[in-house]
Amino acid sequence: MKELKLLYLYPDMLELYGDYGNIQVLKYRMKKRGINLIVDRYTIGDKAPDFTSYDIVFAGGGADNEQSILSTDLIKYRDNIKEAVKEKVFFLLICGSYQLFGKYYKGVEGNIIPGLEVFDYYTVAQPDRKKRCIGNIVLDVNLGDTETKVIGFENHGGQTFDIDSPFGKVLYGNGNKFGDSEEGFFKENIIATYLHGPLLSKNPVLADYIISYCLERKYNEKIGLEKLDDTFEEKCREQLLKELLK
Ligand code: GLN
Repeated sequence: MKELKLLYLYPDMLELYGDYGNIQVLKYRMKKRGINLIVDRYTIGDKAPDFTSYDIVFAGGGADNEQSILSTDLIKYRDNIKEAVKEKVFFLLICGSYQLFGKYYKGVEGNIIPGLEVFDYYTVAQPDRKKRCIGNIVLDVNLGDTETKVIGFENHGGQTFDIDSPFGKVLYGNGNKFGDSEEGFFKENIIATYLHGPLLSKNPVLADYIISYCLERKYNEKIGLEKLDDTFEEKCREQLLKELLK
C-alpha cells in the first residue's frame, strides 16, 4: 500500500476557518485510492520534527498574537525547513503561516514578527484594524499541466509585498493586498496562500495536484490518480463561479 507522511504544524495555534479540513480532504481522496496518509502533529514543547522526513508539511492561519508567540519556536527549525524546501518536500501554507515563511510580518503597532526568511516576500499589517481583506476569492491558477479556477475565502489585514511567483491571478476578491491582481506564492513544491476555506474541498483538482506531486516525488514514477466522483464538488463550484464571476 502506498503511503505519504504529513506534518501538521501548530494545530493548537494555527487553525482558522476550517484549515484542518485541508488535511481531511487529502486523507479522504487518498483513502478512496487505497493510499494511506499518516498525520503527525507538532506544536511548541513537542520533540523536534525532522522536516526532511515528511512528504507534505501543512500549516494553517492564525492571528497576529499566535504568530508572534510561535515565530521564535518556528525559527529554531529554519535550517531544517530550508533543507526540506530544497529537497522538494511539499509545503501548503495558509495565511498566517504563509506570512511567517517570508522575511517578516510588521504588525499594526509597527512591531516586527520575524519570519523564517525562506522566501523573500514580507508582510505589513494594514494600519486600520477594521479594514481587512475579507470574503470570497477566485483565482486563475496554472498548475503546470492544468489550468484551474481556485475558489476560496480570505480574511487578512496583512498586505504581502515582493512576490516573484504568485499562486494565481485574482478574478474576484483582493489577493496579496487590497485590490491586487495577484494572490499567494507558488513554486513547484510550495503553495503559500491567503485562501482558507478549506481550500482543498472547493478545489479537488488542487488536492489531486498535491497528492500526485508527493507520490511521484516519493516513488519516483509517473502516477496516474484514479478519477473520483466529484459531481457534488463540481456542482458547488459551478454555482460559486456563476455567482462570483457574473
Ligand atoms: N494575522 C494575519 C493577518 O491578519 C493572519 C490572519 C490569518 O491567518 N487569517 O494578516
